[in-house]
Amino acid sequence: MDGKVRTRIAPSPTGWAHMGTARTALFNYLFAKKEGGDFILRIEDTDKERSQKEYEQDVLESFRWLGLEWDEGPEKNGKYGPYRQSERTELYKKYLTKLLEQGRAYWCFCTPEELEAQRAHQMSLGEAPRYKGACRNLSPQEQQGRLASGTRGVIRFAVEPKTVAFHDLIRGEIAFDTGLLGDVVIAKDLETPLYNFSVVVDDFEMQITHVIRGEDHITNTPRQILIQEALELPGVQYAHLPLLLGEDRSKLSKRHGDNSVRAFRQQGYLPEAVVNFLALLGWNPGSDREIFSLPELVKEFSLERIQKGGAIFNLKRLDWINGLYIRHMRLEELAALCAPYLPRDDVDSEKQKAIVGLYQERLKKLAEIAELADFFFADTLQYDAELLLWKDATKEGTQEILEKIRELLNGVGESEWTKDNLEKILMPEAEKAGPPEKPNRGYMLWPMRAALSGKKASPGPFEIAEVLGKEKTLERIQNAIKILAYA
Ligand code: GLU
Repeated sequence: MDGKVRTRIAPSPTGWAHMGTARTALFNYLFAKKEGGDFILRIEDTDKERSQKEYEQDVLESFRWLGLEWDEGPEKNGKYGPYRQSERTELYKKYLTKLLEQGRAYWCFCTPEELEAQRAHQMSLGEAPRYKGACRNLSPQEQQGRLASGTRGVIRFAVEPKTVAFHDLIRGEIAFDTGLLGDVVIAKDLETPLYNFSVVVDDFEMQITHVIRGEDHITNTPRQILIQEALELPGVQYAHLPLLLGEDRSKLSKRHGDNSVRAFRQQGYLPEAVVNFLALLGWNPGSDREIFSLPELVKEFSLERIQKGGAIFNLKRLDWINGLYIRHMRLEELAALCAPYLPRDDVDSEKQKAIVGLYQERLKKLAEIAELADFFFADTLQYDAELLLWKDATKEGTQEILEKIRELLNGVGESEWTKDNLEKILMPEAEKAGPPEKPNRGYMLWPMRAALSGKKASPGPFEIAEVLGKEKTLERIQNAIKILAYA
């Protein structure tokens, strides 16, 4: 090894890439880049039944979307490939054979029923269930004989009872009594290795220096260290990241909603905001600063500032960060990203930009634009007459005001149809609106806004009118007058 830091993210493609996986990938990426090292993507698809190509594609797409480009991995290659475990069978076979030959692993032929009986017995004695090693003493000849006769077996690793200690870069010294583990299954057969084994082989073969992963893997670590030792492989450094918790402080899971990266992407969270948010799940910059770009995170990142306690996946914080990134975007760019969420795409880009511009300040995620701005695209608006009445305004009074608005707007030329002009023309009238003893602009601006949007809340009437244009604006005022007349 040339001393270069090499980290890896090793997802199993058995479901849509998860935000938790994205956070682990991010921390591996940040640490590698900070140290001038390499970030490797390895697809752990040894579980043939549950692994799917579609999910693998989703992992690649999700990481790319977040800007977490891997230095080596699928679609990239590199000198330690292939980077899919399903393509590395021969390699695992070589190491499995070695362990079997050395007697560090053995074939076990216990049936599921026998194992279950053993488990139940141990539980009844209040012991932790573990494999007692009934097959450990079969001679190599007996093992071969049974295999030759077609008996199905699995390969177990003979665990030595001892204390395995390692230094975790986040959690400090950790020691395990391996006597509690029992002999772990490391492969279903020579062609089907299991996670704890293949991960050791790959981390060595791919020259991984640092294994940064979720805390839920901490109990796998002693097993992996024992396998490493048996194969006489050098160790790696471990850093176990704090759990992600839901807002109820229980472990983040499906119960808390769809936490796949694609779900967040579909709702219109920006990759920069998601990265920023994920970075703060367990890591703190040592100051109050909350906003970081990916390159800034690379500069600031350190494993020392990762906490041990669980990190709360706080959606409000994500919304806040996302809103902030949205506000700081160039309008052209934001409008282009919003386009797929708008109900019609036959609207010219200037208009689209104008619509999106009305919401830039308040959007939390892009998908919200669909509901907020749908009225711009509607042919006729449907709503109750009530909506047009401001406070104690009467139907008749409101009708009159709308007639007045129509008359004034009619006189405005197409070329003068700007928000500022409309405001200049209508405001003097609005100031006088309502009962003479208590005039208020609300009596005019509210029904105008409601007539143009059909909504309780929307941008102001002049902004909407400018975007709608003269014809549509007048049509909607007319429609409101009609709705009142029929009410
Ligand atoms: N394939 C494992 C997972 O997805 C990788 C764990 C590890 O990083 O060792 O959880």
